[in-house]
Amino acid sequence: MGEQTGPGKRRLGVMGGTFDPIHHGHLVAASEVASQFHLDEVVFVPTGQPWQKSHRAVSAAEDRYLMTVIATASNPQFSVSRIDIDRGGPTYTTDTLRDLRRLNENADLFFITGADALAQILTWRDTDELFSLAHFIGVTRPGHILANPGLPEDRVSFVEVPALAISSSDCRARVAQGDPVWYLVPDGVVRYIDKRKLYRHDG
Ligand code: ATP
Ligand code: MG
Repeated sequence: MGEQTGPGKRRLGVMGGTFDPIHHGHLVAASEVASQFHLDEVVFVPTGQPWQKSHRAVSAAEDRYLMTVIATASNPQFSVSRIDIDRGGPTYTTDTLRDLRRLNENADLFFITGADALAQILTWRDTDELFSLAHFIGVTRPGHILANPGLPEDRVSFVEVPALAISSSDCRARVAQGDPVWYLVPDGVVRYIDKRKLYRHDG
């Protein structure tokens, strides 16, 4: 679990994502890692305008933020941070982790990432700095192979989480087609999508 894990330090999980919308796959992954790694808290960090998704229109940051708040509000271990949204511009995970470090000086950071995102990590910027800022936890995700794509062994762990074949893309497509997303996303998020008429014309 990382040599830097000091005694008495808070253990802070970081779940980054577009959360367009947040779904039960995200929530189960965060909950399972929190349990297995004895985390004190998991902070969900919705991205600013995501640079790797610029090919499609991403919902307004405030909508993604509010859905994330609605989905996590009942769990005392979960919180939501606006740092990436308020920074403006595209989100780079190094900035996220650097800012969280500064705001939580007495914490060890554990960055939670699905198998698909982990596979892309070496395409991110400043990878050397990334691994000095947090321990990385790759979680299983149906349809993706969880493997170390060449990251420093001592900075990455792997966790098997209950398999939920849910993606935000699929949720958006379902709403666009008039199919239900009940039980794929929390009830309050279903209601919010409906209230704000999200995803109606966008797969
Ligand atoms: P999209 O389809 O728009 O890419 P997504 O479902 O992949 O959405 P993201 O916001 O891109 O959701 O993902 C945030 C993080 O959660 C990523 O690290 C991703 O790998 C992880 N994740 C998303 N869905 C699951 C799932 N069903 N099981 C495990 N991890 C997941
Ligand atoms: Mg994704």
